[in-house]
Formats: sequence, C-alpha cells, structure tokens
Amino acid sequence: MHPALLAAIAMIASTLCYASACYVSPFGRCRKCKGKSRTRHGRGVRYCRRCDSTGLRLRLGRHLWNYARSLHHDGR
Ligand SMILES: [Zn+2]
Repeated sequence: MHPALLAAIAMIASTLCYASACYVSPFGRCRKCKGKSRTRHGRGVRYCRRCDSTGLRLRLGRHLWNYARSLHHDGR
C-alpha cells in the first residue's frame, strides 16, 4: 500500500473520531483553570475569565460546526 494513501486514511479516520467526539460531548474541560473554575491566589479567590467559571469550554470543532450552521441558517 502506498504511504500517502495510508497517511490520507489515517487523517480521515482521526478527523472522523474528533468530529464524533465533538458531537457526543461538545464541551471540554477548561485548560486555564483545569475545570476547577475557582483558584485561590494568595488571600483572594480568582474566577476564571476564559470559561466564566463554568470549568467547561466549547471544543474547537463544535465552534466551527456552530459557525457553519449559523451561516447555513442565515443563507436560507
Ligand atoms: Zn476556566
């Protein structure tokens, strides 16, 4: 089997796996606060600005899917 064909199959398979992961669980854990949403810094409690203290963030693939859906919806 040709190596380029093998690489293409691997890329398609990994893309399908990521797309299904985005479909099944659209939210991932926030990398900034690691899902803790509140971290103690010194005496105060700092809330995560990246995820608005939910501890969750929308996956990039789901972001793209939502954007494509809104474009399709606006086009109709
Ligand atoms: Zn966060």
